[in-house]
Amino acid sequence: MALIPAYRRPEAGDHIYCRRQGGLYDHHGIYVGDDMVVHLQGKGKKLGAPSECNKCGNKRFINGEIAKVCIDCFLQGETVEIYEYGVPLFIVTTRKLGTCSSVPSKPPHEVIEAAVYYLEKGFAPYDLISNNCEHFAVYCKTGRAISLQVVRPIVNPCNIM
Ligand SMILES: [Zn+2]
Repeated sequence: MALIPAYRRPEAGDHIYCRRQGGLYDHHGIYVGDDMVVHLQGKGKKLGAPSECNKCGNKRFINGEIAKVCIDCFLQGETVEIYEYGVPLFIVTTRKLGTCSSVPSKPPHEVIEAAVYYLEKGFAPYDLISNNCEHFAVYCKTGRAISLQVVRPIVNPCNIM
């Protein structure tokens, strides 16, 4: 199987992430195609008055803490990274925590269905330990709720926008 590709463009159903706060933490979401991303945005940044965006302004959909925004709004100028699944364990252990998983991904259409389902029905409230943005994406990809990011000594990820 392919190991970690050097770079590829996100495809619909991919779990993507990018740096936030200059690398203090990573923010995660599911790329659902058409330049749109579904993500758990967290309590601290409910987009009460979202910044103007010509690209996704009228396609943006926010339901509590789950939001669908364009990839530009998601990335906020950072570089997109792809969270790979089904990576051999001996490689996972050499990578930064919270960037890949040995667990296989569900097929892309099921991942997108899951993300859209939570966008419409809501997801359990955001919580750093049990339910963060990485959890949401991992859960859409695998049906399992795990986050490796919280193992790192970081403060308040995804909530400090
Ligand atoms: Zn946008």
